[in-house]
Amino acid sequence: MNKFFTGRRTKRGLLLFGIGVLVFAALIAAASITVAVLNTFFNDRGFDAYTISFIALSGFALIFTVTIVTLFYFEFRKAQIIIDSLNRVAEGDYTTEIQYGRRDAFSRIYLNFNKMTKELRSARNMREDFVHSFSHEIKTPLFSIQGFANLLLEGGLSEEEQKKLLRIISDEAGRLFRLADSTLILSKLESQQLLGENKPIKLDSEISDCIVLLAREWDEKNIEVSADLEPLKINGDSSLLRQVWLNLLSNAVKFTPEGGKINVSLKRSGNFAVAAFKDSGCGIKEEDLPHIFDKYYRSETAEGVEGNGLGLAICKRICALSGGEIAVSSKPGEGSEFTVSLPLKQ
Ligand code: ADP
Repeated sequence: MNKFFTGRRTKRGLLLFGIGVLVFAALIAAASITVAVLNTFFNDRGFDAYTISFIALSGFALIFTVTIVTLFYFEFRKAQIIIDSLNRVAEGDYTTEIQYGRRDAFSRIYLNFNKMTKELRSARNMREDFVHSFSHEIKTPLFSIQGFANLLLEGGLSEEEQKKLLRIISDEAGRLFRLADSTLILSKLESQQLLGENKPIKLDSEISDCIVLLAREWDEKNIEVSADLEPLKINGDSSLLRQVWLNLLSNAVKFTPEGGKINVSLKRSGNFAVAAFKDSGCGIKEEDLPHIFDKYYRSETAEGVEGNGLGLAICKRICALSGGEIAVSSKPGEGSEFTVSLPLKQ
């Protein structure tokens, strides 16, 4: 937590104090000159020096007091607006904004105040959006678990049927666990601004390790996997990036039919390492393309395929945290290609 203490003598405070002293000295000088001028002018007309000085100084005092009171009144009003606005934010009204015209001593406070309420609004929207999506996503597996558990409670089922229902319940519980895990990972990544670890990584060996790790999945579907990996190094968090490679590879396997092909390449392009994952799978419809990196988004083609629509959102966040980006090009029926660009180690 950052703590700031007010009341310190800053340079600006000293400057203002200096200006105040100068203005006060200038006022005394102006008052003395005025008294002197009025004395020479009115002495001939029968006014004594004392009366002239009294009238002139009273006039000055009046003008000075009115000016100071007016200035204080306007500054106090501005401070009051800030206090009222802060009170409204403290009561939970994040729509509060301070409208201001010309630049003055409070402009930076107004600007930062408006920035703060904007941040608070977007954090609240994100939280509401997250709660809404998450509660929607957990309903389907929960309904299945409840429905099948009720069937079991009613009784009258053979041992075989009971086992089948218990398996479904166990699978749905597993889905819930994975959903909770992925949601936690994503919300942690979203609140993170920097990589936890920034160490040299041999991208080619990381990616080929991941291909081997998923060998059972692509082998079971008789998918032909080829790799063309240029040896390239970057700085980053290897365990986070591993999630990107595994997600993209497992998506390629999931959405490619039996006997299909997957090609993985790693090439240098300028100051970037570009990893491409190309498959000969079902592809993605044009209307789905802008949404596939959104949280919980799954296209119609994903029906019946294991997943929760968080994998690509996680990949996108990890790429952004690593200073890179992820893109997709795809045509339905012709397959998809996901490319990840990451800045090379300089
Ligand atoms: P999940 O795979 O768990 O559904 P993702 O976030 O990884 O979630 O992917 C979001 C959606 O993008 C998928 O449901 C699918 O519709 C689409 N998609 C992702 N990768 C591919 C791919 N290689 N081929 C076809 N569609 C894909």
